[in-house]
Amino acid sequence: MSENCIFCKIVSGQVKSQNVHEDDDCVAFKDLNPQAPTHLLVVPKKHIPSLAAAVSGDEALLGRLQGAIRAIAKSQKLDSYRVVTNIGRMAGQSVDHLHYHVLGGRRLGWPPG
Ligand code: AMP
Repeated sequence: MSENCIFCKIVSGQVKSQNVHEDDDCVAFKDLNPQAPTHLLVVPKKHIPSLAAAVSGDEALLGRLQGAIRAIAKSQKLDSYRVVTNIGRMAGQSVDHLHYHVLGGRRLGWPPG
């Protein structure tokens, strides 16, 4: 847990969130500012500032997160969806705790802005 990290506070329950999934590794909850009819954030319980900051010991966790994303998308009945993680301010990262956006429920343009 990292002090002053909003997603650590969501993981610990200090800050309320609309959770759709929780397991030993991660929590998934609705984004406060949704960009699509379904917009979830999948967040590891471990504080990792971004994918770029993950270390080799995190590889198994990263793999399990991908599995959780797949299961969550299925439970949300998404067949087409996008999984995004922003790394760094220029890419739009605003919260320095690794998170995967799961977006679906509308046609998604490409390339992203
Ligand atoms: P990013 O800009 O890629 O770092 O994504 C951060 C996301 O977290 C944004 O889409 C925000 O809307 C979302 N967000 C920030 N605070 C909260 C919160 N307390 N509950 C739910 N979503 C949040």
